[in-house]
Amino acid sequence: MQHVDAGIETADVVIVGSGFGGLAAAKQLNKSGVRYVLISGTPEHLFQPLLYQVATGVLASDEIAPPIKNILRNHKNGETRLGKVTAVDAANAVLTYETPEGPRRIRYGKLIAATGASQSYFGRDDFADKTFSLKTIDDARNLRAQIERVFEQAKDADPETRRRLLSFVVVGAGATGVEVAGQLKELAKRYYRQEDTVTLVEGAGVVLPPFGGGLSEYAKESLERSGVDVLVDTFVTDIEDGKVTVKSKDGVERRIAAETVVWSAGVQAGGFAQVLADATGCETDRAGRLLINPDCTVGGHADIFAIGDMTFLNGYPGQSPVAMQEGRHVADIIRGKKPAATPFRYWDKGSMAVISRFSAVTKLNDKVKFTGFVAWVAWLAVHIYYLVGFRNRLAAVLSWLVAFIGSGRPGFNEVEKAPLATTREKARIAA
Ligand SMILES: Cc1cc2nc3c(=O)[nH]c(=O)nc-3n(C[C@H](O)[C@H](O)[C@H](O)COP(=O)(O)OP(=O)(O)OC[C@H]3O[C@@H](n4cnc5c(N)ncnc54)[C@H](O)[C@@H]3O)c2cc1C
Repeated sequence: MQHVDAGIETADVVIVGSGFGGLAAAKQLNKSGVRYVLISGTPEHLFQPLLYQVATGVLASDEIAPPIKNILRNHKNGETRLGKVTAVDAANAVLTYETPEGPRRIRYGKLIAATGASQSYFGRDDFADKTFSLKTIDDARNLRAQIERVFEQAKDADPETRRRLLSFVVVGAGATGVEVAGQLKELAKRYYRQEDTVTLVEGAGVVLPPFGGGLSEYAKESLERSGVDVLVDTFVTDIEDGKVTVKSKDGVERRIAAETVVWSAGVQAGGFAQVLADATGCETDRAGRLLINPDCTVGGHADIFAIGDMTFLNGYPGQSPVAMQEGRHVADIIRGKKPAATPFRYWDKGSMAVISRFSAVTKLNDKVKFTGFVAWVAWLAVHIYYLVGFRNRLAAVLSWLVAFIGSGRPGFNEVEKAPLATTREKARIAA
């Protein structure tokens, strides 16, 4: 049990965040029965890599966002709380968090911060209101509702209105941008049976920059074959009603019709990362990520760890395996399985991205790479393995059969379930 002391609870370990890092830490602590309290601004554990599939109707939202309480229900020494952590008193080891019932305080023996990152608009925060992002389950639902709306309205519209309604621009050709662009084409051809325009805009010289070489080339050619207009070395300079202005590296500017703009470029760690930086004196990089010590501790505080997307260490990528491995690493230090101050080393098992149905790229290392159907099957297997919970895995496999072997989109059945979303909305505290 956690103790209450002068209105302040006490916990051996407090984990902040129910994402990949927080969940991995909780599971590892549980192996030694360490008492912990996990506080998160959202009630679910969100499998972000599949958000684009919720947005494009392949999966239902519950399949990638199970309640964190359910996942951890067998942890006898673990408790979960819905709340947004707003302050930390590092000298006295006390956190303040906001709950629907008002502010609460908790004293920690050890703190594991895993609050992730949000979208970066590179100084153009006004773009946030003009674009759809993909960071939270509500983002995916909003984009899905927009896709459903434009295709429905386009059905009976005159040709010019239809062209306008079915114009999509996706900004950022990382894995998410490529996946969304590919799916928007597939949706139009195989589900709505209408013609849309999809433009993918990337500031770097290639799509999927971390893959590079032949894999980036393969991805670009596959997208172009499916009808996506790919613009590399190109930056978005303005977004206004129905139009995106882009400028290429050689200075040529042009405007592209865009009823729907999806923003998937760049990350910014603000929020709790900044709170922690101010409280501990830890430095941050330009993206606001904490420059943590090699053992994942923060500043001069051996009792505070930060992991995952809110941090930057040794150039490791902002990906779920890094967050999970860091979560397990700091939990091992806390439960005495690794000596204090052991540096974290990332084991890179490779990266993968889907381009469209039956087509993906997988890079295990600089020598072992796959493209096409084999890479797609590997992607499927890895994602089934990492999805949390047997029921979710089964439901996802059934949805994938419907969407990829058939031409259905089971996720769109959910659009009408407004009361469910509203209930969840009330439970949510914006993180
Ligand atoms: C669309 C998309 C696609 C991606 N695709 C891939 C992929 O294919 N492969 C891959 O490896 N990675 C992918 N990633 C990256 C991967 O999801 C992240 O690296 C991973 O989620 C980081 O885990 P985390 O624990 O650091 O943060 P997150 O998983 O983001 O979790 C953060 C948690 O902190 C909580 N929180 C935030 N602020 C507070 C606060 N103040 N108080 C309390 N709780 C708070 C949030 O509610 C959330 O539960 C993708 C990301 C996105 C957005």
